[in-house]
Amino acid sequence: MPDRGMAPLIIGVDVGGTTTAAGIVTPAGEVILEESVPTHRHGPGRALDAIVPLIATVLERAERGGHAIGGIGLGIPGPVDVASGRVGDPAHHVPELVGRALGPELAARFGVPVFLDNDVNALALAEWRWGHGRGARSMVALALGTGIGAGIILDGRLVRGAIGFGGELGHVPVNFEGPPCWCGSRGCLVVYASGRGIAAAARARVAPGSALLRAAGGDPQTIAAEMVFAAAAEGDAVAAVVVEEACRALGAMIGTIVNGLNPEVVVITGGVAGSLAPLEARVMKAAGEYAFAQALAVTKVLLVPGDKRVTMRGAAALVLHETDEIRSTDQKEESR
Ligand SMILES: [Zn+2]
Repeated sequence: MPDRGMAPLIIGVDVGGTTTAAGIVTPAGEVILEESVPTHRHGPGRALDAIVPLIATVLERAERGGHAIGGIGLGIPGPVDVASGRVGDPAHHVPELVGRALGPELAARFGVPVFLDNDVNALALAEWRWGHGRGARSMVALALGTGIGAGIILDGRLVRGAIGFGGELGHVPVNFEGPPCWCGSRGCLVVYASGRGIAAAARARVAPGSALLRAAGGDPQTIAAEMVFAAAAEGDAVAAVVVEEACRALGAMIGTIVNGLNPEVVVITGGVAGSLAPLEARVMKAAGEYAFAQALAVTKVLLVPGDKRVTMRGAAALVLHETDEIRSTDQKEESR
């Protein structure tokens, strides 16, 4: 492990719709200090009034501890133009950040290099540098939470696309005649395999007197994805169908990823991945119906529970990644 006294540390910031967490991360990906605040503690539209003081506090604690900070990285819940450090549209949880050149603003405020990227791209960089994708040339991280995002690393490069939408696999259709999605399309992966989609499907179909409805205290509106998985395991018919659809939809997406990109590793993580882990055999059976057998056979598909610090660590990995990219394109970039 690098000597903490020698290598500069990085501040990683996970900007969430509810909570924003900032941590001091070592070049080995270890979090040595973290703080978090409610993103909208000062009210709607005022995320920056929480984020900027949070970073200032963590930076001050680092400096008081004698640590040099080499940069700040932020994971943002929306598309990001990484080159300009500008947040794109839509960023539903923090709409006040859309269009802001947050990278340059924060760099001017704190006097260190600042990089931002989509939160799931950050997560993918953490998994690639320090986690389940370490050593792979190509890796896809699929984060199944309330919504679904993905980060694509192909032949050693993070794929961002023209305006930062690269990796929006949650809104790729797995059923072209499927139900409407909140994005305006239909049959998207999120409709079937996100926490929001699973809960909505179960609410719409739950039967009177069923185990699922009892688990929800009789009110369909309180049904959450975890309840659906628990009820399915206990034999509730509607829950079992919804869970089977989630497994098949995810299998179809694995097929899309394997046939389209042929990565060495697919890391499926997030809260819903934790619930799906015991059903891995069913997911992989479905994947086998859609993927080329030869390609699927050499793909390491991992269903791992979510780690709440992974985006924060990923935001730090982003700083290292971007610094490496700058170095590789400009050999004269100074190195400490
Ligand atoms: Zn959609």
